[in-house]
Amino acid sequence: MSPRPSVGRYAPSPSGNLHVGNLRTAMLAWLFAHHDGGELRLRIDDLDPNVCSPEHEATQRRDLEAIGVTFAGPELRQSERSDRYAAAIEDLRDQDRLYPCYCSRREIREAAQAPHVHLPDGAYPGTCTNLDSQARAERAESRPAALRVRAGGVVVAVEDRVYGTSEELVDDFVVQRNDGVASYNLATVLDDADQGVTQVVRGADLLPGTARHVWLRDALGLSQVEHAHVPLMIDDQGERLAKRGGGVTLEELAELGHDAREVQTQLAQSIGLAVTPITTPDQHTSGQSLAKLLEVFDPRTLPTQDTVWP
Ligand code: GLU
Repeated sequence: MSPRPSVGRYAPSPSGNLHVGNLRTAMLAWLFAHHDGGELRLRIDDLDPNVCSPEHEATQRRDLEAIGVTFAGPELRQSERSDRYAAAIEDLRDQDRLYPCYCSRREIREAAQAPHVHLPDGAYPGTCTNLDSQARAERAESRPAALRVRAGGVVVAVEDRVYGTSEELVDDFVVQRNDGVASYNLATVLDDADQGVTQVVRGADLLPGTARHVWLRDALGLSQVEHAHVPLMIDDQGERLAKRGGGVTLEELAELGHDAREVQTQLAQSIGLAVTPITTPDQHTSGQSLAKLLEVFDPRTLPTQDTVWP
């Protein structure tokens, strides 16, 4: 049987301009997919209407194109998929894998900090896991319920093409927020499956938590994907770049006199792909600008340490 062709995806949230770290991740997603003889698809992660806007989406598309990241195949938009997410919630409910959770963020933070609790960062401490019906009814008076999966603290192995294999505890994570909207974790595994994605390339900050996705795919009977997390771009203070940091978006860099072609070359160099310059202006405008990079791209030699920008 021949292996499935690789289908990668890049999934920006249109909540601001992309910074050079986001753009480098998108370039890498393109390179991984094409290196494996596949293609890259676009997904718009606009689950949260309060922070996403068509203007940001348009700017993100423009910047991705300017940096040479092209997409093929069908696009997918999270804001149009609430029926799909609701059907998966019903599936999990039928499997008796869900319970309501009434905790506020603050309650979770405080319970997780209690001296006898030893949990990975961000893991749910279990306040609502085994409530009897009376306690549940009392807590229901305080706020509407989110829905959590009953994962039972199982440990799952995550294989990553860049960072290797690690084992991670799966906590009882949220699949439906208390405003009724699907959680990012639920949406992303369903979207990847429905978009035909076989390869997920994304920032290494998202590696912790990937075990939740592995667990959820199994629970929902979805195929597993290949994971490749890639190093982040950080500032000179060691902090992750923010979308509004100054000198980090293509717009800001253009104002400082650096065009997209120059930024593309600098990003390639930052991951050890020293081709100077990557493309001629002609190649750049014809959408061929990453093909040159593909000739020298080797996933096995990708650095794992974060890069300081600029
Ligand atoms: N929309 C998410 C983000 O921008 C995507 C994360 C992922 O690639 O799974 O962080």
